[in-house]
Amino acid sequence: MRRISFVVPVFNEEESIPVFLKTMEETLAPLTGAYTFDYVFVNDGSRDKTLEVLVEAKKQYPAISIVDFSRNFGKEAALTAGIDNSKGDAVIPMDVDLQDPPEVVPKLIKKWEEGYEVVLARRADRSSDSRAKRLTALWFYQFINIIAKPQIPENVGDFRLMDRKVVEALKRLPERRRFMKGLFAWVGFNTAVVDYERQVRQAGVTKFSGWKLWNFALEGITSFSTALLEIWTYIGLLISSSAFLYLAYIILRTLLFGRDIEGYSSTLATILFLGGAQMVGLGILGVYIGRIYVEVKNRPIYIVRDYFPEG
Ligand code: UDP
Ligand code: MG
Repeated sequence: MRRISFVVPVFNEEESIPVFLKTMEETLAPLTGAYTFDYVFVNDGSRDKTLEVLVEAKKQYPAISIVDFSRNFGKEAALTAGIDNSKGDAVIPMDVDLQDPPEVVPKLIKKWEEGYEVVLARRADRSSDSRAKRLTALWFYQFINIIAKPQIPENVGDFRLMDRKVVEALKRLPERRRFMKGLFAWVGFNTAVVDYERQVRQAGVTKFSGWKLWNFALEGITSFSTALLEIWTYIGLLISSSAFLYLAYIILRTLLFGRDIEGYSSTLATILFLGGAQMVGLGILGVYIGRIYVEVKNRPIYIVRDYFPEG
């Protein structure tokens, strides 16, 4: 019998967990004869009763294992830990708030049985997200897919099915700073897509504010593209060649018409423009150097306080 592991990162989700498990059990009931299911919960430094709720739930659902982090390491680290600890022939990362609807799971499995190694769940309808979130998400995907390789599929979150082969490939990616959607795309494999409607959160509150999302977008862009670093060569070339032309023009004009002392505002504008442009360039260098710094320190991606195995 093939085994399917659900990887569920949880951060302050005491209210969502029981509803999630109950809904999953009901939805998967028709499949329990054909597959064994297990859950790898990663408690990402919750400050509420999440761990207690999980340990309690384990009594009723023995197929739960729990990875308990020493502090909040973020969803990407939690997904990494869940994937590292998963044993299934296929692995499905899911949010605990039921925004990734369990009804989609049988469709993912069906595609997997057809031989696809990755089955993406795509949010065909995001009307449950705010207009601002949809718009910024759209810009993000447009921008990153111009400059990044490989392409990151639009409107696809972490919710997807991955075959064991894919999981083993992911485990070989050593970076500390992990933009999982990008890493998932990077490993490749035969991919199918299943569309679904994004639900509203069932309980609790979102853990991603505007500032966190902005940094998440930067993380994705800097993890999967060096275009922002390289573009400075071209900006520099453009500015110095126009400066050269301008210089030739000034020399010629002085030779023909003599000296003048005008030009205070154009000088100031040029200095300010170039100063600003240099700082942006330096800032971008800084972002990448910061990333190199984090990578060379080679610290573990997460620290586990406790591990509760299945059964
Ligand atoms: N999450 C986590 N660590 C964090 C933030 C979130 O493990 O630092 C989990 C959270 O408990 C949930 C999932 O990641 O299961 C998605 O988070 P959320 O629903 O808040 O994000 P949204 O759906 O609003 O983008
Ligand atoms: Mg959510």
